Amino acid sequence: NGAGPSSTNDLFVVDSPNVVYTDTEIKSKYTYRTTSVTQGSDGKYVATPKETLYGFKVDRKVPKVGCMLVGWGGNNGSTVTAGIIANRRGLVWDTREGKRAANYYGSVVMGSTIKLGTDTNTGKEINIPFHDLLPMTHPNDLVIGGWDISSMNLADAMDRAAVLEPTLKGLVRKEMALMKPLPSIYYPDFIAANQEERADNLIPGSKTCMAHVEQIRKDIRDFKAAHGLDKVIVQWTANTERYADILEGVNDTADNLLKAIESGHEEVAPSTVFAVACILENAPFINGSPQNTFVPGAIQLAEKHGAFIGGDDFKSGQTKMKSALVDFLISAGIKLTSIASYNHLGNNDGMNLSSQRQFRSKEISKSNVVDDMVAANTVLYKEGEHPDHTVVIKYMLTVGDNKRALDEYYAEIFMGGHQTISIFNVCEDSLLASPLIIDLVVVSEMMTRIQWKAHGTDASDEKYSSFHSVLSVLSYMLKAPLTPPGTPVINALAKQRAALTNIFRACVGLEPENDMTLEHKLF
Ligand code: NAD
Repeated sequence: NGAGPSSTNDLFVVDSPNVVYTDTEIKSKYTYRTTSVTQGSDGKYVATPKETLYGFKVDRKVPKVGCMLVGWGGNNGSTVTAGIIANRRGLVWDTREGKRAANYYGSVVMGSTIKLGTDTNTGKEINIPFHDLLPMTHPNDLVIGGWDISSMNLADAMDRAAVLEPTLKGLVRKEMALMKPLPSIYYPDFIAANQEERADNLIPGSKTCMAHVEQIRKDIRDFKAAHGLDKVIVQWTANTERYADILEGVNDTADNLLKAIESGHEEVAPSTVFAVACILENAPFINGSPQNTFVPGAIQLAEKHGAFIGGDDFKSGQTKMKSALVDFLISAGIKLTSIASYNHLGNNDGMNLSSQRQFRSKEISKSNVVDDMVAANTVLYKEGEHPDHTVVIKYMLTVGDNKRALDEYYAEIFMGGHQTISIFNVCEDSLLASPLIIDLVVVSEMMTRIQWKAHGTDASDEKYSSFHSVLSVLSYMLKAPLTPPGTPVINALAKQRAALTNIFRACVGLEPENDMTLEHKLF
């Protein structure tokens, strides 16, 4: 009971009868407190506090983890690889502004802290790095690999991306020149025609087939064996594809999807083929682009195999700001009436998005991000009422990866007044996305080592199970969060972070973070 770990480097232990440490596991009993509401015929609500007892079990052994990126030779793929190498080697390089050292800024796991509690003696808050909350893998230890339809080695790909400082590139070039993406699958109809030129590294066959699934599965197994890995996490950071049509008998169920792949149906996207291969190989698969990779059949297949999936679309710049700012405005009781979002960017992602069908995928993913916040405020918005929302993306070669995002938020304030907020956000897109790729790997991997159960009264409740296949806990990092079928989508950034931190806290028997600070308020 409450005994500390014998031989680990945990930063803290929880001293509680509800938390037990063994050499291999942390077990916690956790009381989940919610409020159950009913509405009477008179329209009045009755709110009843409810308690459910859960048991969590965390596997403490940090495994050796590999991360395979689809689109490894792209801007994100080459940037995150260089970033991890630089951190691993503790590199420092010269810039015109002086020396810069490798860091993990922009990663929630590596760059942010959580409140552990209050110092018994001083009453001051004790904050610890997020990474120390549970025994998470360290990004420096990740083995990176992956696929690309372009055969360019990672050193040249890093030059092509034009994101990092030349002095930094010089320090990692040798190592990266040895990294070559595996051949990938390319069905030209799914990405923009302007990508064809770089497609010189292909697994034969231009439409979906089981041989493609099998090849990808083999690639994962080979990578695992070659590097002595315990686990591989796969992420799609390849070009945005067009949406696939959802067709009855084709991609609506798991069995139909497998049959469609076998028969070479043209509505199965490369990203879905990757997802299917990963699900069958039990490697968590995360989709960092906006297309509907997870057709209903793919989700069902994941559920059937208890495999983890997550998506969609990295939430790096404009949308991250939006999901924080809109939450703030609406929670402040200010009636947001329109959002106009313009982007221009000059990287390869931008070029691909200059094609209408691929832009449409992005437009959809960027458009729904305020829905839950609007729907939750019945004081400001009538049922069905919604702020106007427009998203424009233009390709402009000159600005390269330095994406510009211009947003105008227009709101109605007290007594018919108006508030206009204009934001002009400039930053290297890939430097925002790379830490998200890291967070998604670290958090997904951690989720594979957490099990839970409802505590009942009989012995049968001793069975632990995994979280649902759809990892909605990754929402903070994703623009259009995928959630288990039939469950609500949360877009508000603060809520997404709270879900992530509080679930991890529960695993070590800690209460959710609360900011009541009653200890400072009472006489
Ligand atoms: P990029 O164009 O530089 O890289 C994509 C890579 O994918 C290219 O190297 C391309 O050759 C490769 N590719 C295309 N189809 C492939 C396939 N079937 N198999 C394997 N490789 C394939 O783009 P990027 O800037 O690295 O962005 C990658 C993706 O992430 C895009 O879809 C983008 O929309 C998405 N995204 C990026 C950000 C960001 O901030 N950078 C944010 C959200 C989403």
